Amino acid sequence: MASGEVLDTAALLAWPVERMSGSLVVPGQRAELVRISPDRELALDAANLIWELPSDDALDRARDLAITTGDMAGLSAVDFELLALAIEMGATLVTDDYRLQNICELGGVAWSSVTTEGIRSMWSWELRCSGCGLIVNTPDTPSPDRNLGNCRECGSELALRRRR
Ligand SMILES: [Zn+2]
Repeated sequence: MASGEVLDTAALLAWPVERMSGSLVVPGQRAELVRISPDRELALDAANLIWELPSDDALDRARDLAITTGDMAGLSAVDFELLALAIEMGATLVTDDYRLQNICELGGVAWSSVTTEGIRSMWSWELRCSGCGLIVNTPDTPSPDRNLGNCRECGSELALRRRR
C-alpha cells in the first residue's frame, strides 16, 4: 500500500512495523537507528520501507524553504533530506520536529506529527450539558472532586463527550 508518507526517525522508532509499509525514508536514517536502537534497525528490515535519496533539485528547493523560514540552523542533514524527499514525492512528512513542521507549514508541504498518527486512542474531550447540550469551557484547573458540575442554563448534570 503506497502511503505517500516520509517518516522521520522518531516515527521509525514509534510506529508499529506493519504501519510503515511503503513509507519513504532516507539512507542516512539507518546510521541514526543503529546508534539509537540497533534492535529496531533489524526489525525494520521487514517493514517494506522505500529507501530513497532526494534529487539535487529537491535539495535546492528544501534549502530555499529552510533559509526563508529561518529554520536551517537547527536542521540535521537527515532532517534536511527528509524534507527534500517529501517535497520531491509530494508526500506527507511525518515528524515531531517543530522546525520541520514549521517549514512544512510555511512552505505548503503536507505534514503530520508522529504521535497523533501512531497513537489511535488519543481523543479530545468537551464538557457538555446532558440536558440542553450547552458546551461549557473546559476548566483550567482539576476539579476538587469528581463532580463535573451542573449547567448554568438548565441545571442538568454536565458530562464529558468526545469532541467531533
Ligand atoms: Zn443545560
